[in-house]
Amino acid sequence: ERTVQRIAAGEVVERPASVVKELIENSLDAGATRVAVSVEAGGTEGIRVRDDGVGIPADQLEAAVAEHATSKIGDIEDLDRGVGTLGFRGEALYTVGAVSRLTVRSRPPGADAGAEIAVEGGTVGEVRPAGCPEGTTVEVDDLFYNTPARKKFLKRTATEFDRVNAVVTGYALANPGVAVSLEHDGRETFATEGNGDLRSAVLAVYGREVAEAMVDVAWAPGGSETDPPVRGVTGLVSHPETTRSTREYLATYVNGRYVTASALREAVLDAYGGQLAPDRYPFAVLFVEVPPGDVDVNVHPRKLEVRFDEEPAVREAVEDAVEEALLDHGL
Ligand code: ADP
Ligand code: MG
Repeated sequence: ERTVQRIAAGEVVERPASVVKELIENSLDAGATRVAVSVEAGGTEGIRVRDDGVGIPADQLEAAVAEHATSKIGDIEDLDRGVGTLGFRGEALYTVGAVSRLTVRSRPPGADAGAEIAVEGGTVGEVRPAGCPEGTTVEVDDLFYNTPARKKFLKRTATEFDRVNAVVTGYALANPGVAVSLEHDGRETFATEGNGDLRSAVLAVYGREVAEAMVDVAWAPGGSETDPPVRGVTGLVSHPETTRSTREYLATYVNGRYVTASALREAVLDAYGGQLAPDRYPFAVLFVEVPPGDVDVNVHPRKLEVRFDEEPAVREAVEDAVEEALLDHGL
């Protein structure tokens, strides 16, 4: 039984970054306005995600870490949203608990006291009173300590941290109204203000140099079509003349979910059409809205890569959107 549980867990939880992703999703689902992530040794030794969301009442802690336990409705709708990256419903805490030492500590706003539950390699402990701030803190220590084969697949600490950083950055930019912070081995990597402003989030995450090179993208389809294949393209891209970035930063979102798609990347690069100085790379954070049924994530629910039914239309819209933005600034 335990073995089956662990194998299943390995499929869902590949590495620290996938744990972080699930925990942030939970915090956002809980309506958090602050999400603080801190990891040790790239997340291989410790992961902590603290939020100020609705919390978990003490009498529901056991259910939260149980298999197939979800308090959320609308599973079908989520999957139907087309970019079903929310994960396997009701499985995240359960699977993480099977392959680590997990503690969930929570106090719903207004509750007199908090409570916690610990899970060690799938063995669930008692619910105990715990002093804690309002909201939820999830701690995951010693990931894969009981699945050496899985642990062997982990890369160097720096590589695992890069992936964690990419995930937290992705959520921070997609949710500029939420204050998201990241800490690695006690050192702050970034902290967004959560003031709702995308530029301010970009500044916090990527620094002044990238932020100052940015122009707004705001594209909408022409009025005549009733159900256009692309509903909108918004975000920020870097002005070629002020782009000093020596690394490519492309963050793309489809219907609010962080994804990668070669069609989107190529469309952005095409829009620049060689205007960048040699060894300079564009920065873009773009939100693309398409009809939910037109996006395909069929490869594997864990994968970020998506395909579009109307790929040429998406490509054209994104290229137009970026070109327009650059033109508006005299290019
Ligand atoms: P799912 O998110 O698919 O429901 P999870 O295993 O990720 O499954 O979480 C199980 C349940 O635990 C959630 O449905 C929710 O009720 C509760 N939960 C988990 N994390 C949080 C959190 N940060 N804040 C409030 N409730 C949470
Ligand atoms: Mg979840």
